[in-house]
Amino acid sequence: MTRMNLWKTTIVIWTEYDPQQSELADLCRDAVEGEAYCSKSNSVLLPEPEGDPDWDGTEFFNVDNDNPPDGWEECGGCDCWHPADFGGDCRDDANRWPFATKGGKP
Ligand SMILES: [Zn+2]
Repeated sequence: MTRMNLWKTTIVIWTEYDPQQSELADLCRDAVEGEAYCSKSNSVLLPEPEGDPDWDGTEFFNVDNDNPPDGWEECGGCDCWHPADFGGDCRDDANRWPFATKGGKP
């Protein structure tokens, strides 16, 4: 199983209107601009999101091991791919494909 390290953000927003018909972006904008009230915003880093009661088993974060992520470019210094704007160390596995998704084993 892919090992994940994800941030979980819990936000509570109070409104006078029914936000179920709104886009999330609109609700967030209202909370920022003052139309809605944000009483809680909490982010925690979860090393094992699978164990969280709010985790729904999404495959959203599963990375394709056969194709580099969109926008990543082949590196001239190593055998891997990095984000296009990456200027860090080639050994930084978090910014290497395919290493980033296979725990260091290609
Ligand atoms: Zn490199």
